[in-house]
Amino acid sequence: MGRRGEMLQAEVLAVLRGSESPLSAYDVLGELRKTRPKIAPPTVYRALAALTASRLVHRLESLSAYMACQSDCHQSASILSICDDCGIVEESVAPEVLEDLSSVAGKSGFRPARHVIEIHGVCASCVGAETSG
Ligand SMILES: [Zn+2]
Ligand SMILES: [Zn+2]
Repeated sequence: MGRRGEMLQAEVLAVLRGSESPLSAYDVLGELRKTRPKIAPPTVYRALAALTASRLVHRLESLSAYMACQSDCHQSASILSICDDCGIVEESVAPEVLEDLSSVAGKSGFRPARHVIEIHGVCASCVGAETSG
């Protein structure tokens, strides 16, 4: 990855950090095209893949979308709570939960390699809006 690639990664990260809710690769491309009309989709996909690999960005498998990491550098996968009302995603890190899941899966001899934990529901502020309105 050369300097140009690193610059683009920083721009992609800035786009995701500036968004309240997760963005698809297509949304990210659209944002970048405001300043770089000629940018090609594979360039953006590569930047997203590199950022995901370094855990600065997380891919939401159930939405096919991306979000900037909200927590400090963490070693294990995080738990992503997705509000189906407003689209906000909360990130929590709980390595002990992952260990429990691994041991459940491991009982049959299965060897876990990667966790993907996404919880769909309603966030606290949307719950508040429902009960007060
Ligand atoms: Zn994270
Ligand atoms: Zn919400």
